[in-house]
Amino acid sequence: MTRKTAQPAATPRLTFLGAAQNVTGSRYLLEAGGSRILVDCGLYQERDLLARNWDPFPVPPASIDTLLLTHAHVDHCGYLPRLVHDGFHGRILSTQVTAEIAAIVLTDSAKLQVEDAGYKRKRHAREKRIGAHPEVPLYTLDDVAATLPLFEPVAYDTPVAIGAGITAEFREAGHILGSSSILVGIGSGAARRTVLFSGDVGRWDKPLLNDPVAAAGADWIVVESTYGDRLHEQTGQIKEHLAAVITETRRRGGNIIVPSFALERTQEVLWYLNELIGLKRIPHLLVFVDSPMAVRVTDVFEKHPEILDEQMRALLANHASPFHFSGLKLVRTVQQSKAINLISGTVMIIAGAGMCNGGRVKHHLESNISRPESTVLFVGYQAVGTLGRQILDGRPEIRLYGQMHPVRAKIENIPGFSAHADRDELTRWLSGMQQPPRRVFVTHGEPEASAAFAKHVGEHFGWQAHVPAYQETVLLED
Ligand SMILES: [Zn+2]
Repeated sequence: MTRKTAQPAATPRLTFLGAAQNVTGSRYLLEAGGSRILVDCGLYQERDLLARNWDPFPVPPASIDTLLLTHAHVDHCGYLPRLVHDGFHGRILSTQVTAEIAAIVLTDSAKLQVEDAGYKRKRHAREKRIGAHPEVPLYTLDDVAATLPLFEPVAYDTPVAIGAGITAEFREAGHILGSSSILVGIGSGAARRTVLFSGDVGRWDKPLLNDPVAAAGADWIVVESTYGDRLHEQTGQIKEHLAAVITETRRRGGNIIVPSFALERTQEVLWYLNELIGLKRIPHLLVFVDSPMAVRVTDVFEKHPEILDEQMRALLANHASPFHFSGLKLVRTVQQSKAINLISGTVMIIAGAGMCNGGRVKHHLESNISRPESTVLFVGYQAVGTLGRQILDGRPEIRLYGQMHPVRAKIENIPGFSAHADRDELTRWLSGMQQPPRRVFVTHGEPEASAAFAKHVGEHFGWQAHVPAYQETVLLED
């Protein structure tokens, strides 16, 4: 045990290594009782922050004892293989479903890393220049293979020991399948203190997933604020909005391109389509899920009815899975994917990546972005600097595969699909506290959203709320 620099029984400290005044790269380092615990280990995805993925990790990865993973989104788990490559060999605790989905996500991410490095190498050679970062992948499938055995699945609502006097308890976060908030307990008896990490907080009364379990019993709270300054449209309006987009686009004779996250969002869109078809609210149309990862994740949903909500369990029990309606085609090969563009008439294409910064959605955009009769329909958060955000912000032209394309397609957004709680839902989540926390740390939001939500927490609850800066360390003292 030569690696610890802190004195024994030092005041617990929390360092914000990501998702601090930005949305991606969630990484929180908790040092307590002689242990180093990292909560989440995400990739940075904002264009301006991508360089941070290449920075050496701020503490030696081998010195981290335990990793607690809230959920399997790449901005929460996508750096793991690199951490393992650089020496981390501790346990990774997550729910069973998070472990299963993380295996799919990390495998996909490694393939993208390798592909990207290849493209970069070719482009730089052609342009006779050297890029800012090495033209090697951040990690490979070998690193993923070394990472997956470190996962140890844990059950919800069951505290597990993770170090001397330290426990972790996972609670339903209702954000994506298997997602959690994590309560870390430090010490025992009257000296026991707790830190609650919200993870990404989901929404109440959504299809498929159980509702989030509200915060309870914590001394310090680290809460996300992706939509901390906004209110979503009511989930009831989603169906109407979706039906209108489909009917309109069909009238114009174009296609509907839905850049979608493979986890949960794709399945939720399918759930609504299935409803609309059942209600005869939309005409029969071909729907392609053109994302091998989404197809694999859909299998995980059907394999784990025990953690789906009642409505969804009932559908599955009646063999009425919303993931198998007539007209739905699951695309597996690149050949099938390319053939979609040959179909005339309106089709809906749900394809990754959700922020358009990679994946098959790019070639569907290439065929449709300049067609006024087509629609690009956003159903998820678009981070600053991503292609999706540029389109959503109304750029007149965009770059795809090195070529500029005028944006003539109709751009639609259904924010109600969000997997993230809005300001009032985050407030509802915090309202579960019986005692005021000592302090709330507002993270995982763009600076304005985090600042607005911190202000709101102060005004609404009268609690102390702070928006930590990148790499800021706070002492958790009474
Ligand atoms: Zn998430």
